[in-house]
Amino acid sequence: MPSHVPAQAADPAVAPIRVPLLAWLLAVVALVVSYLLLQENGLVTTGAVAEYLHEFTHDGRHALGVPCH
Ligand SMILES: [Zn+2]
Repeated sequence: MPSHVPAQAADPAVAPIRVPLLAWLLAVVALVVSYLLLQENGLVTTGAVAEYLHEFTHDGRHALGVPCH
């Protein structure tokens, strides 16, 4: 190995991988949806829809440490 190549570059455990664009887009959509669901206390919807959505995601909110009550 040439001396100018960093030792990490030869390590297969840290070899760079190519992530498809669709995967990045899916991750962004998932993050935005997660943010909206976690902040949903009347921010996006109101009334019975907001209450249903809150209860539907309630356990997940607590699992992630989001305060809701
Ligand atoms: Zn709660």
